[in-house]
Amino acid sequence: AKRLAAQRHQIDEILAPFQLSQAKLEEVQSRMRTEMAIGLCKDTHASATVKMLPTYVRSTPDGTERGDFIALDLGGTNFRVLYVHIGRREDVGVQIVSKTYSLPQEIIQGTGVKLFDHIIDCISEFQSENNLRGRRLPLGFTFSFPCKQTNLDQGILMTWTKGFSASGCVGKDVVMLLREAAVRKKNNDLIVVALVNDTVGTMMTCGYSDPACEIGLIVGTGTNACYMEELRNVELLDGDEGKMCVNMEWGAFGDNNCLEDIATSFDRDVDKFSINPGKQRYEKMISGMYLGEIVRQILIILTQRKILFGGNISERLKTRDIFPTRFLSLIESDTLGLVQVRSILTDLGLRSTCDDTMLVKEVCTVVSRRAAQLCAAGIAAVVEKMRENRGLEQLKVTVGVDGTLYKLHPHFAGVVHETVKVLAPRCDVTFLQSDDGSGKGAALITAVACRIA
Ligand code: ADP
Repeated sequence: AKRLAAQRHQIDEILAPFQLSQAKLEEVQSRMRTEMAIGLCKDTHASATVKMLPTYVRSTPDGTERGDFIALDLGGTNFRVLYVHIGRREDVGVQIVSKTYSLPQEIIQGTGVKLFDHIIDCISEFQSENNLRGRRLPLGFTFSFPCKQTNLDQGILMTWTKGFSASGCVGKDVVMLLREAAVRKKNNDLIVVALVNDTVGTMMTCGYSDPACEIGLIVGTGTNACYMEELRNVELLDGDEGKMCVNMEWGAFGDNNCLEDIATSFDRDVDKFSINPGKQRYEKMISGMYLGEIVRQILIILTQRKILFGGNISERLKTRDIFPTRFLSLIESDTLGLVQVRSILTDLGLRSTCDDTMLVKEVCTVVSRRAAQLCAAGIAAVVEKMRENRGLEQLKVTVGVDGTLYKLHPHFAGVVHETVKVLAPRCDVTFLQSDDGSGKGAALITAVACRIA
């Protein structure tokens, strides 16, 4: 019994840094507010971590958008090409034909020329398969990496994230890179109209059915958010009237070490061994690319201390990224029995007892809960700013959300909702899951642009 108590004490010690008090979360929220102000301000923007990038999207859809469009979605695990028909909202609404293409490691970490050539090859194949060759259609390019936009159809890639590292792209206009590849590959059917961040696409998609949707949130491979800011507060641009959607690039929150007090040794390790050390520190505590890796690091320590798996580490557990975030969803699912949890562990070469499986589940829960709470602190900062911007006692607003972690994890969304309620009590926040945010949204933004042009 004494040994058990000692073990419990060690477990608590290891997991305690993941448990954030309400006061701590309020601090995170207030630091996010500070970083947002720094990003929006002309004099401090250049050195800001949370970049607060203007997107040149000035309004959410009004339902009168019409036409046929091509949309591209590049920004995570896969690349997609979509053919989008936008009809009368009351009638057919938005219809989509799409195809997903895998992006091999050697493409996303090779040269930019190869990456964009590959993209055009996929588009050409898609056009042929759908009888679209020869139809010059306006194209919306969802490109979910931080870009300094100077226009709706122009954006300089500032840095790669989420495992991408194709050479010769950072510092270049990605629309130009796409157009150049189209020329190289003799594809004359593309009219690139809009460069779109996936957060903005998500907000627009949800905005098509809910006019109160003025925030977009992604929790998938990475995490990011956008929202409608007053143009007068976007100091990088002239103009005082109306609003503009700001792509926060909030994944980089903490890159000035302002989250060091909550970062655990596990977060530091995950960061150190990633392909972009020191970057995207907030994202690395929240998103799908990293949560499984945090759990794996904790499991290793617990095993080394002989608290888990009888002290026997398998070769597989020592392999980086062997524990995908999908496993957190499976293990934390309330309907999945411990037997199935054990079979996941067995596949990793780990012999587990019943106590082991319960402890693994506890570790997963602690890690995903913290992620959801941190994400909520960010949203709370955004909604409070919007409420103050508008001088309201109470703000009613909808957040459009996309991303597999948010959508498929059994508890993530619930924890986000309950935490936002606590941290932003004067805001009435509804969360709406977007259906194909990046694809539909890119087409809607393109449609709005074509309507205005
Ligand atoms: P992306 O963000 O790349 O556009 P997704 O929204 O599909 O695409 O997110 C992919 C991420 O979601 C991966 O990092 C993966 O770890 C995570 N993921 C996949 N399946 C699940 C799941 N069932 N539960 C939680 N996370 C998942």
